[in-house]
Amino acid sequence: MRMSFLGAAGTVTGSKYLLEHEGQHVLIDCGLFQGYKQLRLHNWDPFQLPVRELDAVVLTHAHLDHSGYLPVLARNGYRGPVYATAATCELVKILLRDSGRLQEEEAEFANRHGYSKHTPALPLYTEQDAERALKLLRPVELNHRVDIVPGMSIQLRCAGHILGAATVEVVAGGVTLVCSGDLGRPNDPLMFAPETIEQADYLLVESTYGDRRHPVESPEEQLAQVINRTAMRRGITLVPSFAVGRAQLLMYHLYRLLQKRAIPDLPIYLNSPMATDVTRLYQRFRSEHRLSREECEGMCHVAHFVRTTQESINLDLQRTPAVIIAASGMATGGRVVHHLKALAPNPINTLLVPGFQAGGTRGAQIVAGAESVRIHGKDVPIRAEVVPMETLSAHADADEIMQWLRGFKRPPKHTFVVHGEPNASDVLRRRISQELGWSVSVPEYRDSVELSAADQPASPSL
Ligand SMILES: [Zn+2]
Repeated sequence: MRMSFLGAAGTVTGSKYLLEHEGQHVLIDCGLFQGYKQLRLHNWDPFQLPVRELDAVVLTHAHLDHSGYLPVLARNGYRGPVYATAATCELVKILLRDSGRLQEEEAEFANRHGYSKHTPALPLYTEQDAERALKLLRPVELNHRVDIVPGMSIQLRCAGHILGAATVEVVAGGVTLVCSGDLGRPNDPLMFAPETIEQADYLLVESTYGDRRHPVESPEEQLAQVINRTAMRRGITLVPSFAVGRAQLLMYHLYRLLQKRAIPDLPIYLNSPMATDVTRLYQRFRSEHRLSREECEGMCHVAHFVRTTQESINLDLQRTPAVIIAASGMATGGRVVHHLKALAPNPINTLLVPGFQAGGTRGAQIVAGAESVRIHGKDVPIRAEVVPMETLSAHADADEIMQWLRGFKRPPKHTFVVHGEPNASDVLRRRISQELGWSVSVPEYRDSVELSAADQPASPSL
């Protein structure tokens, strides 16, 4: 089996791993590149092979950096199956439609305001391309082996990262390959721990936090402090958030804080129709998270769901303390960008920025202390208080990744460290080599390796 790294090598976005076995081509994850412009430009690169030669796609989870490239494949003629868990399929329906709409809106906005260097600015794909991709989704059950193409089967297991997230075990030609996808945390309040895997010939492991340990303090304490401090100033706490996973985790903590009366009874808005739809899926897929019925209902009802654009605009005009949670998570697009324009220049407000912010995104610039960020062709000053918050991560940190790796009964023949900024991947590579004594490397974009069966050489040539 041959494997090519078409994304998330040397970076955290664009996850795509192409497997080739006996003339069959299977893509594990189909993600968008996000962040730095030179990375985003890869979204426009021609695909590795004519898409009609692609036989199947498997998704680890729904986040756009793992699923958001599907509409490009569909537009270019891909009509094969896309396998994922049922919850991932439902989430992908919400995310891709929104992504298509957003791509169209941004191109249209750029054309209307004339700030694109390209005339006319074209969307990477449209909502209609997304609809085409959604027809290809094939839900598969966790912990069941499924034949996907002749000579190749997969098994998905809980990865604990977000609703529906899975690790993928691929078996083909006597070789077992495990792809970690994004790994969750062992003690997340919402998600179950990632399931231990005991055996693989080859392993792909993510390294988003490969060089870091998450802070141990309670996210609820930090949230309460920030919200109370901002409310004293009569300001608004704005939280850029992924619509999937983080928004729900935030709402869960806010629900608990209100119950404990640790924050005042101020209005909380979830300004993301997409996050609203996602939240409802938590009620539908009750067995796939840790919340009791009561907690799930509490989380779902803690925030006012903002639907229309007018309601969204009105939020910026209000003069009373409030909390606004809005997508996107790294402030690269979505309604949070409009809130930033209105709220960031005023020092009474707070920008609470949770989780990992990929280099090149507005979120990363804000956390790094930028005096202004560029929005819709204008510089917007950042005078609001900025509070990065790493405790709300849906990713395992370095120690937690190592703990998951120790679940293997014997070392894989070779481990590839992927899905990390260069330093994070390299630090994790060294730990795996030194602490576990495994054969390990960090592949580069477009590297291709032969994964040999058991009796052949142990380490692949890069
Ligand atoms: Zn993810």
